[in-house]
Amino acid sequence: MSVSPLARSIAESPTLRLNEQARLLREKGEAVVHLGAGEPKNKAPIAAILSAASKLNTGDVKYTPADGTPGLKKQIIRYTEENYDRVVAPENVIVSAGAKQSVFNILYSVLNPQDEVVILAPYWVSYPEMVRMCYGVPVIVKAEDGGFVPRMEDIEKNVGSQTRVIICNSPNNPSGVLYPESLIAALVDFCERKGIWLIMDDIYHKLLFDGKKSPSCYKYTNRDTETTKVIAVNGVSKLYGMTGFRIGWAVAPRPLVQIMTNVQGQITTTVSVLLQAAAEGAMSGLQSAIESLRMTLENNRNVMLLELASFNGVKTIKPDGTYYCLPDFRAYSQKSVELSDFLLKKALVVTVPGREFGMEGYLRLSYAGSIKEIQEGIARIKWALDPSAPNEIYVGDRKLVRDWL
Ligand code: PMP
Repeated sequence: MSVSPLARSIAESPTLRLNEQARLLREKGEAVVHLGAGEPKNKAPIAAILSAASKLNTGDVKYTPADGTPGLKKQIIRYTEENYDRVVAPENVIVSAGAKQSVFNILYSVLNPQDEVVILAPYWVSYPEMVRMCYGVPVIVKAEDGGFVPRMEDIEKNVGSQTRVIICNSPNNPSGVLYPESLIAALVDFCERKGIWLIMDDIYHKLLFDGKKSPSCYKYTNRDTETTKVIAVNGVSKLYGMTGFRIGWAVAPRPLVQIMTNVQGQITTTVSVLLQAAAEGAMSGLQSAIESLRMTLENNRNVMLLELASFNGVKTIKPDGTYYCLPDFRAYSQKSVELSDFLLKKALVVTVPGREFGMEGYLRLSYAGSIKEIQEGIARIKWALDPSAPNEIYVGDRKLVRDWL
């Protein structure tokens, strides 16, 4: 088959692949526990549903401007003012089909072939692949101490004349860690001095625990919105658990937004007006859904940490937010893909291998599901790996006996 070698080399999204595997196993009646999910169980906020439904009822479902409907952009402007303390113009905002498309649009709009993009590890699986799709070169920076927060000096060491962008995601998928304010401040200052774009993927920035707050990236720049190198990316997927609505956005200097709008206009034209109406509804309606999701996640995180604490040899850095934690399973296996496959096959638990996030030997576990799933999932993983755990377990109505330890 004649296809582009670059396209052929782009990896399948491991999280989407695992979702599909879990779905197929469930369809076969298997009692799968999904600790891989990047979405919570909540229903969309009622204001989102009503807003989309009332737009649908008009029958007037047409194209919208390529950069988003004025109504949704108004909400994004208000959100930016409230959460980032920055007043931006409609020309600074572009709505896309998820934050995923926002990040891709930015990269496509700023990269020349062979330009380098610095990505801080652990990182979200899609960044390196998106960079490569834009003919760029991902440069991964790991924390020197093996932890989850790279040092500024290590970041600087990896920046050269070809570096065009640094991508920062805090609180972080997959580790759940919130980067210290000092790192964000240093990143903003460094990027602006060097003329490097700084993509702040803030998709989890309100889902923080223990009273922590994510600082606004604009706090550290003296520049105005047209000259800053900071680009803020956000969306409704994680904030309201509205993953299927596919609405994200970027806030950036006008000339860049204009280019991104042209690019998007040639590819998708726009996001469906119905989904934009839903996002507008969610953002203008009662905001209690966010706090209730955040509280559920914090409670789930606590249960997850408690369960993992009783696991011999597994070390977990406490997540500050998000839906995830990233425990170190190297005491059991150095190969996270094999370990994850093993757990799915033997214990019917979905986990995401750390290798996909640049952290080999770790597994990303999601606590976005129910408490029951967390407890059941960790009990099964313990049963499968820990010789001190009882060697019999019930999975659904089947009794499984461990015969490999
Ligand atoms: N950035 C990060 C760090 C994410 O984890 C995700 C979703 N998993 C996205 C962006 C994409 O979100 P969306 O659904 O808005 O495309």
